[in-house]
Amino acid sequence: MNKNTYSNRLMNNMKVDDLNHLVIGGVSAVEIAKKYGTPVNVYDLTLIKEKIKTFKNAFSKYENLTQVAYASKAFSSLALFEVLAEEDVSLDVVSGGELYLALKAGFEKSRIHFHGNNKSYEELKTAISEQIGCIVVDNFYEIVMIEKLVNELNVTIDILLRVTPGVEAHTHEYITTGQADSKFGFDLASGQVDQAIKQIKEIENINMIGLHSHIGSQIFEVEGYEIVIEKLLQKASEWKKMYDFNLKVLNVGGGFGIKYTDDDSPLPLDKYAKAIIRSVRTHSAANNLNLPEIWIEPGRSIVGEAGTTLYTVGTQKDIPQIRKYVSVDGGMADNIRPALYQAKYSGVLANKVVDLNEEVVSIAGKACESGDMLMWDVVLPQPKPGDILAMFSTGAYGYAMASNYNRLTKPAVVFIENGNDFLAIRRETVEDYLKLENSIKNWE
Ligand SMILES: *Cc1c(COP(=O)(O)O)cnc(C)c1O
Repeated sequence: MNKNTYSNRLMNNMKVDDLNHLVIGGVSAVEIAKKYGTPVNVYDLTLIKEKIKTFKNAFSKYENLTQVAYASKAFSSLALFEVLAEEDVSLDVVSGGELYLALKAGFEKSRIHFHGNNKSYEELKTAISEQIGCIVVDNFYEIVMIEKLVNELNVTIDILLRVTPGVEAHTHEYITTGQADSKFGFDLASGQVDQAIKQIKEIENINMIGLHSHIGSQIFEVEGYEIVIEKLLQKASEWKKMYDFNLKVLNVGGGFGIKYTDDDSPLPLDKYAKAIIRSVRTHSAANNLNLPEIWIEPGRSIVGEAGTTLYTVGTQKDIPQIRKYVSVDGGMADNIRPALYQAKYSGVLANKVVDLNEEVVSIAGKACESGDMLMWDVVLPQPKPGDILAMFSTGAYGYAMASNYNRLTKPAVVFIENGNDFLAIRRETVEDYLKLENSIKNWE
């Protein structure tokens, strides 16, 4: 195998240097591992910016305004929010914690949207008193709390109504269900949404500007979005006649798929955007509506492929005829997705990318848990203790879902751009634990 065929296994902007080392964004992954230790989450900032540009360019062809709102839950950090603010994207937050970080990063308040199925009174109070861009209202109790708050604070707030449209999308399938069984949003089929607008219309300080739906994640087809757009625009047309409702914003959520392994064949991101635009134009015209603003909420598709986790290889266990386990210095504590969703990943050894002596191994994490596996049956060049494993496409729902299980400390997060590296989040240390803990000796 030569370097060229091998480079098919690399992702996006990665390269192999003369030392046969993996290069991410112009920086040697081996040098990063040496400088910051492992496990370390590396983000190629150039790639994040490219993904944002792709969406923005595709939407620039649309006749009305658009917003690309990054879904913070995929990965949030102060430095990332600062970068996103510069890139002029909007931000979805789903908790007081994410909102706090966004405000600390100096994110423009009018571009922050607040999501969640159980926002607390305190969280809503902060969001409303800070006058963020909008609240995506999820349920009836939330309407009651928001009404109380806008009256108390004597302010108005823009909201979107989260609709459960009875369409669920998973990768290559989308399922249209009569009755959507979901903890999120107001159900369309049963008329919960109609009940909701009736209530909201009566509240003077709540300004309902549009509708929202999010149909799933890691979606590789456009049909699910098209069905939802048709359903929501029909509903908007009905409400226009009944309530003189003006649909200013149509938010179709996130879920755009990315590549983890060769088995994934996601659409180019602009294809999703173009299909969404086409569908909004068609169904707005058919329903006699003005073109609404289009908002989307990509999370995974912005940061997923830009992230690579570097681990150091440790022990091995070879069970003849059965399996060779190769353990690394991280695992389910820094990436729960394989254990939680049977998620598949791919990777290479960063210190010997191209090597003819390959074997099939399974990569185990270091937690005391049989389920702590990162990859099953991957082909790698005979991993040895001290080798650096680079696991690809770990940028979304990796660090964001990290825990301290087994008292493992959270990895460092390093940003890379134009051959430079920057420590965005330092590695957690065991001393950090003691900041939270109290000795029993202090109990008198
Ligand atoms: C999770 C989520 C997203 C982001 O989904 P991705 O698959 O990461 O793009 C967007 N909107 C809502 C409401 C979500 O819950």
